[in-house]
Amino acid sequence: MDISVIVPLYNEAESLPKLYEWIARVMKENHFSYEVIFVNDGSTDDSWKVISNLQSTFSNDDAVVRGICFRRNYGKSAALYCGFKAAQGDVVITMDADLQDSPDEIPELYRMIKEDGFDLVSGWKQKRYDNKFTKNIPSKLFNATARKVTGIKLHDMNCGLKAYRLDVVKNIEVFSEMHRYIPYLAKNAGFTKIGEKVVQHRKREFGTSKFGLNRFVNGYLDLMTIWFLNKFGKQPMHFFGLVGTLMFFIGFIAVLVVGGMKLYALSHGTQAMLVGVNPYFHIAILMMILGCMLFLAGFLAELVIRNSPSRNDYLIKEEI
Ligand code: UDP
Ligand code: MG
Repeated sequence: MDISVIVPLYNEAESLPKLYEWIARVMKENHFSYEVIFVNDGSTDDSWKVISNLQSTFSNDDAVVRGICFRRNYGKSAALYCGFKAAQGDVVITMDADLQDSPDEIPELYRMIKEDGFDLVSGWKQKRYDNKFTKNIPSKLFNATARKVTGIKLHDMNCGLKAYRLDVVKNIEVFSEMHRYIPYLAKNAGFTKIGEKVVQHRKREFGTSKFGLNRFVNGYLDLMTIWFLNKFGKQPMHFFGLVGTLMFFIGFIAVLVVGGMKLYALSHGTQAMLVGVNPYFHIAILMMILGCMLFLAGFLAELVIRNSPSRNDYLIKEEI
C-alpha cells in the first residue's frame, strides 16, 4: 500500500464527507493505493456515524477506509498515536479533519519522502487563514522558540499536515500533548532528514477550533519537558547532581564567610556578629539543604529509570 492518511478528529461531522471525497479524488488521479484512517477522538456529534457510512460505502481493496473510535476525548496526540500504530502504507500522511489542510498536497509530499529521501516532511502554512491575534502572531513566537530549543529549522512545527516514512511513525511515541513536537521526537530518535513544504491553508468551513490560547502556555511547558527528557532523560543525575553541587558549593562558601567573619572579629577584639543574625548563615543553610534535596531527587530519578522497561531500548538501523 502506498499511502496511509491519518485524520484525527473531534466533532468534525460536517467536514468529513467532503474531506474524504477530496482525498479519494486526489488518490485516484495519481493512482495511489491507500487507506484513510479516521481516528474519532471521542466526538459527541455524528462524526462516528459519518465515518461508518464512509467505511461501508467506499471501502474496497485499493481504497481502504478505516475508523478508530475512542470512548472519550483523549486529545490529538492520543489520536495520532493510535493512527500511527494502525498505519500500513509506505508513506504516512497526517491531516486535520477540518478541511484547513488541502489533500492536493499529498502527491508532492509523497514524492518528497519517496524520491528526495526525507524521513519527515512538515507543512508550512505560509499564508495562514486563522485569527491574527490568537493564532498567527503567537504561533510565530512559539515557532521561533521551538527552532532555538530543538535546533530544527521549521517555520511551522505544529502544522497538522505532515508526511512520514512508515518506519519513522513506528519508531516514535507521541504522548501527552507532544503532537506539537513530532519533528523533535523524530530527530531525537535519529531521523534527522527533516524537510519542509509550503502548503495551502484554508479557512475553517464548519465547526470551531478545538485549541484555545492555553495551548501556548501548555506548548511552552511541553517544550521544556521534552527538552529535559531528551537531554537528561537517561541520566537525570547529570542535571540534578550538577545543580545540587553548585548549590552546595555556594552554601559551603557562605559557611566559610560566616566562620571567617566570626574569627576575624574575635582576633581583632571587636564585637562579633551573632552567627544566627548573619545573613550568610541563612544563605548557607538554604543552599546546603537545597543542594542535598537536588541530589536526592537525582538519586530517586536514577532509581526510577533503573526500573523502566525501556531503559535499554535502542533503535537499530541495520544489522549485518
Ligand atoms: N482534534 C482532535 N482531538 C482534540 C482536539 C482536536 O482530534 O482533542 C483534531 C481536530 O478535530 C482537528 C485537528 O485535531 O482535526 C486540529 O484541530 P483544530 O482544527 O481545532 O486546530 P487549529 O486548526 O485551530 O489549530
Ligand atoms: Mg484547524
